[in-house]
Parts: sequence; C-alpha cells; structure tokens
Amino acid sequence: MGKKSRLKPPKQCNDCGVEADTQFRVRQSETDEWRIVCKACQTLAKNNDDYMYGGTWKRKKRN
Ligand SMILES: [Zn+2]
Repeated sequence: MGKKSRLKPPKQCNDCGVEADTQFRVRQSETDEWRIVCKACQTLAKNNDDYMYGGTWKRKKRN
C-alpha cells in the first residue's frame, strides 16, 4: 500500500515537442525506431509509404 495512483505526465511528441494526453506510436520505415508523436505529426507521417502504426499511448489508462 501507499502508492497513490497518479496521473502520468503527458508525453512529448518526439518530432515537435508538443505535450498531449494522447500520442501515437509510429515509424516511418521498417528500419526506423518507434517514435511517439502527436496527432499532427502522425498525420504527416502517414504520407510516408512505409508508415507504420504501432498503437496509441494514452495518459489515462483504464484498468
Ligand atoms: Zn508533433
């Protein structure tokens, strides 16, 4: 006992640095590392032919 359930800090977009409660795991190609990006940067990344979506990061987790 003793651990308060605290909200995680918002994550920063790896591209533009924007903090948001919801971010997206994407990568631009198979050799690229997974990155956490904001909605706007995800939209940009989608233009890439090799864009891959790796899930959504949410600050608030449901149990
Ligand atoms: Zn961004």
